[in-house]
Amino acid sequence: MAQYEAVIGLEVHVELKTNTKIFCHSSTEFGADPNHHVCPVCLGLPGVLPVVNKKVVEYAIKAGLALNCQIASFSKFDRKNYYYPDLPKNYQISQYDLPIAEHGHLEINVNGTDKRIGITRVHMEEDAGKLVHQGTISTTPYSLVDYNRTGVPLIEIVSEPDMTSADEAVAYLEKLKAIIQYTGVSDCKMQEGSLRCDANISVRPVGQTELGTKAELKNMNSFKALHKAISYEIERQMEVLEDGEKVVQETRTWDEARGVTLSMRSKEEAHDYRYFPDPDLAPLVIAREWVDEIKASLPELPDERRKRLVSAYGLPEYDAAVLTTTRELADYYEQCVELFNNPKLVSNWIMGDLARMMNASGQEIGDVRISPAQLAKMLQLLDKGTISGKIAKTVFEEMFNTGKDPGQVVEEKGLVQISDAGLIDKVVEEVIAANPKSVEDYRAGKEKAIGFLVGQVMKSTKGKANPGMVNKLLKEKLDK
Ligand SMILES: [Zn+2]
Repeated sequence: MAQYEAVIGLEVHVELKTNTKIFCHSSTEFGADPNHHVCPVCLGLPGVLPVVNKKVVEYAIKAGLALNCQIASFSKFDRKNYYYPDLPKNYQISQYDLPIAEHGHLEINVNGTDKRIGITRVHMEEDAGKLVHQGTISTTPYSLVDYNRTGVPLIEIVSEPDMTSADEAVAYLEKLKAIIQYTGVSDCKMQEGSLRCDANISVRPVGQTELGTKAELKNMNSFKALHKAISYEIERQMEVLEDGEKVVQETRTWDEARGVTLSMRSKEEAHDYRYFPDPDLAPLVIAREWVDEIKASLPELPDERRKRLVSAYGLPEYDAAVLTTTRELADYYEQCVELFNNPKLVSNWIMGDLARMMNASGQEIGDVRISPAQLAKMLQLLDKGTISGKIAKTVFEEMFNTGKDPGQVVEEKGLVQISDAGLIDKVVEEVIAANPKSVEDYRAGKEKAIGFLVGQVMKSTKGKANPGMVNKLLKEKLDK
């Protein structure tokens, strides 16, 4: 069997977080009743004229700079002509040959190896509306159309075909999402469609320089779906070639339920759209000073922040990478460390218990009811020995579920650690008296037997005895 390799490029659409649409004053708010955020401009009624929203251009430049792109000094809008019921004008205003930003790149790390992925271009365009179906698109008896999304500003970020596996594609999209989120130009919520990803995939025999015929994969709405869909599509194309057949250039969709990609339509070429400059919109002349101003307003981006967390707090690379996946998470971490200066312990709690509970409840860091100050307070109680490590987990869980202060939880549940030597001594005596067999085993040289006795003391104090003191007292008595 010949060896094949995959070539993958991604096209990512990001909805920009402006208050109004790209060419009119209609609201971009998500979740309104259908067709409530519309006006003659975004409905494409005759005689109306679009006016470009300056904030959109600023955000597109900001994203381009964050992705190491060159910003055009002259850019324009074009009409991309096609018919679809969610597109009331029968053309989409987009950018064709003179996009706002080009020639960028970002860095990914897969299995410990760094790789630079090229960014071909970033261009601005308007979003289309949305067709709403009862059930699935192929079985529904009718379609409804919602134009609220029509004219919501998008940037499309097109990568070079620099990726060769589903892992690399996912790493690229994760990094892209983090960078865009840090800039604040989009919230990048995949579940709300503000980050959407298409993938161009082809395979070719190893050693061949010419690219194979590609298929474009649409409708992947999570990182998991992206990974599964790309893996499936690579396999499918390899099998087609193995069978001596040809891959067809087409658009395919990912069927999550069946776990397969399906053909949707043959792939259009740029000339099918008959692009031409939009006569209603003047070209954009971008002043260098403006670009410099926007550049100066860029926040610290994920890669820089990761490096700083390593050097400032002595964190392992892995921790720093996890903590900087979103700006909110990194902020949460740093706010907590500021109040409780043990960077690694804070990281352990965030990456351990907090991440586990967030996963289980489907929360993001912004939804978490434990504030950084509350986490710091809990760690102080642990540090002072007021609560044991085991109790801390219970306290933390209660804080997560109720948003209560750690001190309040400890008090209400009577969870203060017992460090009273007299009290512990009494329980230790009882446990020794009740477990002669284990005592005998220990004295006969079975070191492990002491673990059982410690466990019994903890059990009878409901986990509240100071474990260090329990160990010490037990040893003293048994070694006598
Ligand atoms: Zn409008």
